[in-house]
Order: sequence, then C-alpha cells, then structure tokens
Amino acid sequence: MSEKSFVITPTEHPVSDADRARLLEHPGFGAVFSDHMATLKWTSDKGWHDGLVGPRRPFQIDPAAAVLHYGQEIFEGMKAYQTQNGGVVLFRPEANAKRFGRSAERLAMPVLPTELFIEAIEELVRLDHEWIPTSEGASLYLRPFLFATEAFLGVRPSREFTFCVLASPVGPYFSGGQKPITVWVSKDYIRAASGGTGAAKCGGNYAAGLLAQAQAYDHGCDQVVFLDAVERRWIEELGGMNVFFVTKDGKLMTPPLSGTILEGITRDSILKLAAEQGLTVQETPYSYEQWKLDAASGVLTEAFACGTAAVIVPIGVVRDAAGEFTIGNGAAGPVTETLYHRLVNIQRGVEADTHEWLHKIEILQPVG
Ligand SMILES: *Cc1c(COP(=O)(O)O)cnc(C)c1O
Repeated sequence: MSEKSFVITPTEHPVSDADRARLLEHPGFGAVFSDHMATLKWTSDKGWHDGLVGPRRPFQIDPAAAVLHYGQEIFEGMKAYQTQNGGVVLFRPEANAKRFGRSAERLAMPVLPTELFIEAIEELVRLDHEWIPTSEGASLYLRPFLFATEAFLGVRPSREFTFCVLASPVGPYFSGGQKPITVWVSKDYIRAASGGTGAAKCGGNYAAGLLAQAQAYDHGCDQVVFLDAVERRWIEELGGMNVFFVTKDGKLMTPPLSGTILEGITRDSILKLAAEQGLTVQETPYSYEQWKLDAASGVLTEAFACGTAAVIVPIGVVRDAAGEFTIGNGAAGPVTETLYHRLVNIQRGVEADTHEWLHKIEILQPVG
C-alpha cells in the first residue's frame, strides 16, 4: 500500500527559527510542543478515516464525550532520536504499536493497525524534524493516544474515537538527570490488581496513582514504588517505570509480567542486553522485605528504574512511613551505568544495532 493515509497541511504560523532554538535549549520534559500534530478518526460505521497531519490546535469535543466521564483512553510514549551521523530514528516502534493494540483491546477500543500507527508518527516527525533537540540526553518525545469522543452517557464502549500524536522536545526526565533518585514505597495504595488494567497503558492507571505519587513528593521522594494488591508484599513497579535489582554475584532481577505490571520496552531491551553481557537474568518475584534485608547485608548492590522517558535511572534511597535504607553507597553502580550507556549508544547509532531495534525515518530536505 503506497497510498498515504494522512493529508499533510503544514501550519502557516510556525514558531520562528530563533524562538525554536531558544525553546530547544532547555526544553524540560513535556512542556514544549512542536508545530504540528497527527490525528485520525474512528467510527463504528467508517472505521479509521480522516488522517491528517496539521497545525497543533485544541480539540473540540462534546461535553458528553465518553472519555470525560468514563476515562476510555490509552496512550504510548516513544522517542525520535538524532543519531551521531545526523539520521533520525525511532526505537522499536513496532513494539509500541503492538502494545497500543493490546491496551486498546483491554479498554474495549478499536485496534489501530501497526502500519497506520507508525505512518502517523513518521509523517509527524518528518514535518517537525527541526524540533528534534541535538544536545546530549535530549530527544523528541512522541505521545500517541486514543480517546472516546462519542457523546453518550450510557455505559458501553464508545462508537467514536480520535487518535492523535503529539511531539514534544525533551531533555532528561528528572531534574537531576541520571543522578540516583529516592523512591517512596506506598503502603496505603496499590496500582493494579489481577484482572484489572495494570498491563494496559491507560490514563486511568495514572489517575489512580497520582495520590500515592503526591505522597511520595511530600516525603521528599521522586517516585512511588507500588506493591502487589493481594499480599502488599511483592514489588511491582513504579508509577510509570519498571524496576530492576542487581546482586553482588552478578544477578539481574525484575518482577515477572504477571498481568499487573506494564510490559516496558526498555525493560525488555535491558533483559536482552544484560543476558548478552553475561549477567544472570531472572524475572522473579522479589519482596520489599527481602529488598531491605539484601540491601543491609550487601547482597544487593544496585537497583534502578527504567522507561522510555527517563531511560535508566539509579535508585539511591528507599523510603517508607517507617524509615529508609540506602542501596550500596547511594551512588550509581557499574551495572546500571553500563546498561544505560549501552542502551543510549544503540539509540544514538554509536554502538551497532545488532537487534534491529532502530527504525530509520528518511527526512526529505527541501530542494534549493
Ligand atoms: C510506560 C510505562 C513503563 C515503561 O515502559 P517503556 O516501554 O519502557 O517506556 C513502565 N510502567 C508503566 C506503568 C508505564 O506506563
């Protein structure tokens, strides 16, 4: 199929080169947006239609739109990187597309075909490629999302949806960059239960986690760690990141995909890279109690959180209502640092992409 699914209508009022250059200097995370966005509609009678990459602008939706009442919404998070030789790449976009499809199924939403998902992103990145920051650790964060627009207050899956992709130039997710973070272990709240939506990337999971996240901030922590819903004993993941543990005898552990944690693409990539590096990789349940004991005895030497937004960030201190403990000497450990650099180097085209994870986007330079 060579027919284009998206009509391209560039804005007549792009941000000036000077303003864009200023915005790209310190973009922060998720606060600066490019000139355009991609949209695509779905209705039960027409399927996917009206693909458009046009000026970024507010939506007009009916106040009765189902998303505003019942939260039928899913999203993805991925990045376009400038490689060291000036090319533009996405990292494993097919994996994001497939996960978007699984999230859609769980939330009773239509599944967007992988080719359309990737085409929307490619067209947007092509049009807004000048928004890709080139400084170290910076990239163009892409936010595909799908939400229910049917004006109907009855409770059933919506018959109308809007798909959209935003592009946001970003620097490091945490203000401290890749410096160790302090995490708060929530004893009051859980994120997901078996049979729920924990494995889907939906806005509702985040809404349910915000109070625990706010408590984390109140206790001087950067992120919240959630325990399992049944025993409140097993470590699951952070609000928006997966978690790994490193032992002094070269074991790398992470909680298994039990249906209550999000199947991170960074998590999967780390499991593959670590195995190649000769680490003993285990997807195994790990209790909070054991984490404390192992940190105290020195069996556990490192812990880190990972996800597209923050990449890999070391966990320095673990805190709960009763007290806190430090991982190793509180600084980034060698396994965490090595994995971080390998992943970033593959994404930047510095190291060979032996897994075919990179998806190149041809940028057409204007003639003349
Ligand atoms: C997105 C997300 C992750 C990380 O997934 P990546 O594919 O690595 O970005 C982890 N946990 C939650 C809850 C998430 O929403």
